[in-house]
Amino acid sequence: MNTAVIGFPRVGKLRELKFASEKFFRQEISEEELLAVAAELRKEHWGFEKEAGIHYISSNDFSFYDGMLDTAVMLGAVPQSYRGLGLSDLATYFAMARGYQGDHGDVKAFPMKKWFNTNYHYMVPQLFDDMKLALSKDKLIGEYEEAKNAGILTKPVVIGPFTFLKLANYNGKKQLSDFVPEIRAVYEELFGELNKADVEWVQIDEPYLVTDLSAEDVALFVSLYTDILKSKGKVKVLLQTYFGDVRDCYEELTGLPFDGLGLDFLEGKQTLALLEKYGFPADKILFAGVVNGKNIWKCDYKKTLELLLTIKNIAKQVVIATSCSLLHVPYTLENETKLEEDVKKHFAFAKEKLTELSELAVLTEEAEPENSESYKKNQALFADERLYLDRGVQDAVAALKEEDFHREMARSEREKLQKEEFGLPLLPTTTIGSFPQTREVKRNRSSYRKGEIDKAAYDKQVFAFIKDCIKLQEDLDIDVLVHGEYERNDMVEFFGENLAGYVFTEKAWVQSYGTRCVKPPIIFGDVKRIRPITVSYSEYAQSLTSRPVKGMLTGPVTILNWSFPREDVSLKEMAYQIGISIRDEVCDLEAAGIRVIQIDEAALKEKLPIRRAEWYSEYLDWAIPAFRLCAGKIRPETQIHTHMCYSEFNEIVQDIDNMDADVISFEASRSNLTIIDALNAAHFETEVGPGVYDIHSPRVPSVDEIVDALRKMLAKIDPDKLWVNPDCGLKTRGIPETEASLKNLVAAAKIVRGEL
Ligand code: GLN
Ligand code: ZN
Repeated sequence: MNTAVIGFPRVGKLRELKFASEKFFRQEISEEELLAVAAELRKEHWGFEKEAGIHYISSNDFSFYDGMLDTAVMLGAVPQSYRGLGLSDLATYFAMARGYQGDHGDVKAFPMKKWFNTNYHYMVPQLFDDMKLALSKDKLIGEYEEAKNAGILTKPVVIGPFTFLKLANYNGKKQLSDFVPEIRAVYEELFGELNKADVEWVQIDEPYLVTDLSAEDVALFVSLYTDILKSKGKVKVLLQTYFGDVRDCYEELTGLPFDGLGLDFLEGKQTLALLEKYGFPADKILFAGVVNGKNIWKCDYKKTLELLLTIKNIAKQVVIATSCSLLHVPYTLENETKLEEDVKKHFAFAKEKLTELSELAVLTEEAEPENSESYKKNQALFADERLYLDRGVQDAVAALKEEDFHREMARSEREKLQKEEFGLPLLPTTTIGSFPQTREVKRNRSSYRKGEIDKAAYDKQVFAFIKDCIKLQEDLDIDVLVHGEYERNDMVEFFGENLAGYVFTEKAWVQSYGTRCVKPPIIFGDVKRIRPITVSYSEYAQSLTSRPVKGMLTGPVTILNWSFPREDVSLKEMAYQIGISIRDEVCDLEAAGIRVIQIDEAALKEKLPIRRAEWYSEYLDWAIPAFRLCAGKIRPETQIHTHMCYSEFNEIVQDIDNMDADVISFEASRSNLTIIDALNAAHFETEVGPGVYDIHSPRVPSVDEIVDALRKMLAKIDPDKLWVNPDCGLKTRGIPETEASLKNLVAAAKIVRGEL
């Protein structure tokens, strides 16, 4: 069998692209230098794939920031406000990605959204009435030629028109259907170029097909491709899907003249059943996604070979593929020097997955694969008893009772009690937790990690940062303070380090958005808190001020969703194990005199199933209780905050209210305020702090802008329930812009307070 990779990570195994881009942003290197780093990385990645013997290697899976933004540029969907800045193409691109404030003008960044059920974020394309879509082929064809010159024939990858149109924002009168003729023409033109360049295969990604589709959606997809494929000429088209199954359009999809279909057999719960029910056309190649592109565990060859055998009985031509782009896993185990061998042997990152693909390909050709070395070695992993299992933890979860998930007083009663307890002004101001991670903060952490300073010296520094941070917030006259989170640069790793059952990597970075990468820890065994985690820092911060300082924790669902989970127990089991650990920490914070505790659920929605029918049964039925578990044992006066990194929770607004937090802050400045209507409609009880400015960009919001946002919010939200805060934590920002922004935030809150 042949093998295929949908996409490869692009930031570089040591995050070379991130560092080069950031230098470029700081004008420390030139555009040429940045381009050279990018070209070097592309070459290296194609090289890995070629060396591993992959047959279908992707090109144009590289991006300086995001593939969706690249597609917008390819289609000519660059709004006039960015074009008009008169910057170079690359600088214009970054202006859309990050905003721009300088001699050429002042524009905000495109909004950013979660990419389906991953922790990757894409830039939401912005369509305007005055836009004339037109092909800009340079990147796609250029990267194909570049690979070809390096001796590697690739399949260029591009996001398809259906997914693009479904995910775009429409800012004028023109709606999706108005853009159909234009976009169709651009893809037809693209086929002309692909033919000219002698491209053999192109991969068109249409992940939107795995969502719940209406009859109109399916009709739109069919009509788009019926037309576009007429121009395909001699280029073969692989229509690629991932993150789920195509249950709403399988027959239509197999009926269209594609040359290959890429289906996900891991997250696509019904993929195999669809094949069994409807068969698979003999004239098409099935790119079977059987090697997990999202998790880091070694693939079970026995199960995978059985699956491939079943598939092979239905489809004549099968290629073994990853289930999605490898963008969602780290580069390679090669850079991990500290993992125990008995742990490491269970893992496969992007590069190692290439080996799995080729080993599987060989095994499928063998009469008795069981006798092969690679097979035996693989199966030994699954036969052994795993490390780090803890019976006590399993029993504690089994013993949880209904009352463990409830606070002793109803929220409306708690609200009254807390208003008295804290005596805060209307529209209280606060921040989401972290303050800028300056060079000094990072240096302190790295000195400690390298063993240059001991824990006491490290903590002494952290305490000094906290002291400055409290002083700054008091000077700014913020009402509810934070300690600044200088002891962590990550919301999950920091907690994981104090939890048994977790293992950590050194270089296993995964792109979250643009130049931002995360290094998810791995849940390897049963999870249990080893020692208090944040208490000393919070206690110290509170000792410096009479204003309330928020204790700052990450919630169990987010810890789980931002870790690589086990595959041998359920997500619910893991969420409850972590929930009990966080509950222990909450109780210790309360005992130490912390009166407000924020339990961030930044990633609550991350694993919300793509299919609506599975929202509750597969997810919310345990995710919401896992959060509630954390606050099940504290006094009613203790105020629980939570925070989410998005405001698209209109559809689960009732569930968010059911988390039973006292206050929730969320990102809102980059999205319109439709969430507020949803809050009204649901009679939302939780007090809310919709973020008043965007922290993803260095831009400083003006007082007027914030006043305006608050007035809009107050048109719909009871002043008793509204908080004033930025969109998210400030750790990625610099000090000057943070101070300026918060100063404006407090000034705006005071102005609007005066109007009440
Ligand atoms: N408390 C965290 C911070 O401020 C929240 C970050 C997040 O939501 N991603 O950094
Ligand atoms: Zn956030």
